Amino acid sequence: MSDPVPSPSAVRTVGILGGGQLGRMLALAGARLGLKSVVYCPDVDSPAFDVAAGRVIAAYDDEAALAAFAETVDVVTYEFENVPAATAAFLDARVPVRPGTRSLAVSQDRLSEKTFLAELGIPTAPFRAVDTLDHLHAAIAEIGFPAVLKTRRFGYDGKGQVKISDPDDLEHAFEAMKGAPSILEGWVPFRREISVLTARGVDGASITFDVPENEHSRHILKFSRVPADLRPETRDAAMAIGARVADALGHVGVVAIELFLLETLEGERLIANEIAPRVHNSGHWTESACLVSQFEAHMRAVAGLPLADPRRHSDVEMENLIGDEARDPERFLAEAGASLHLYGKTEIRPGRKMGHVNRIRPRADRR
Ligand code: AMP
Repeated sequence: MSDPVPSPSAVRTVGILGGGQLGRMLALAGARLGLKSVVYCPDVDSPAFDVAAGRVIAAYDDEAALAAFAETVDVVTYEFENVPAATAAFLDARVPVRPGTRSLAVSQDRLSEKTFLAELGIPTAPFRAVDTLDHLHAAIAEIGFPAVLKTRRFGYDGKGQVKISDPDDLEHAFEAMKGAPSILEGWVPFRREISVLTARGVDGASITFDVPENEHSRHILKFSRVPADLRPETRDAAMAIGARVADALGHVGVVAIELFLLETLEGERLIANEIAPRVHNSGHWTESACLVSQFEAHMRAVAGLPLADPRRHSDVEMENLIGDEARDPERFLAEAGASLHLYGKTEIRPGRKMGHVNRIRPRADRR
C-alpha cells in the first residue's frame, strides 16, 4: 500500500456557498494548495461549478441537501454576505463555518454594520434607522440635506438607495424603499473611494493588503488602482481599520471594508461605508500584483493554514469587464503587461461582471 500524500492542512475539502465568480476564484486558489472545493448554489449555471471538485444544486433552505453537503466538506465558507442566517446556523452545527455567523450578522444589516463601526470608534456617515415616513422627517431634521436613504438589507451596487437633496424628495424616497426597514445616512462629499482587505487566520494573526482606490461607473466598480493617491499615514490608518474590524468580528478569512476618503481643512479623513465579510471585487488586483492573492489568503485562513506575505511587487490597475466590454476578450490577450481573467459566464447581460483585466508595471517607488 502506498503512503497518502501529506496535506499542509487537516482541511482537505472546502464547501463554498455561492457559485459566482468569487466562488470560482476561491476554488481555483484552493486547488493550488491541494484543497478540493464543493460549491453549493441553487443556480444550475453557476460559473464556479466549472472549476470545483463537487457541486450541489439546491436551495439554501434545503436542509437535506445542506446536511449532505456538510458531510462531504471539512469547513464551509461563502462568497456572498446574504447567506441566510438559518443556513449558516444549520451548517455551523455540523462543520465550522468561516467566517463565522457574527461576521454575517453584522454585515447583512446596514444599521448593525454602522453601529458596530461606530462602537469601534471608526468614523461613519451620520445615520438613523428609518421605518416610517415620520422617522424619515425626524432623521432628516437631524442629519440635514443632502442625505441618502438605503434599505438596511439586500442592497448592492447602488440598488435599494435614493439620494435626498431637498424636502420634495422625502416622500418619493420613502416609497422607493417599498416598506423595507431603512437607514438614512448623511451624504459624504468624498474625494475618492478606497477599500482595505484583511485576511485573519484561525489563530487571530492577520495580514492586510495594500489599499486600492476604486472608481465606479453606474454604481458598478470599474477600476481599482494601487497605489492609491493618498498620504502614507492615511494608507496606514486604512490598513489599521482592516485589522481592527477583522479582530473585533473574530473574523476568519478575508474581510473588505469600503471607505470614503475626504479632504478637510485638517487633512485627509477616512469614513467607513460598508463591510463585506468575504473576498471583494476591489481585491482582484492581488492576483497579479502580489505573490498571494486575496483568494489564496482566504482559502489559507479558512483551512487553518499559515497566512502569506501580502506584499505588493508591482503597481497595478484592475479593470472590470462589464456586459459588452467582454465581447472581444482576445484584444486583452495581446496587450503587454495585461492579465485577463474570464469568469466563464455563458450569457452577456448589461451590467453583468464577465471578467477582469489586471495591468501591472514596475513599482514607481522602487525604480
Ligand atoms: P453602498 O451600497 O453603500 O456601497 O453605496 C454605493 C455607492 O453609493 C458608494 O460606493 C458611493 O459611491 C455612494 N454612496 C453610498 N453612501 C454614500 C454616502 N453616505 N455619501 C456619499 N455617497 C454615498
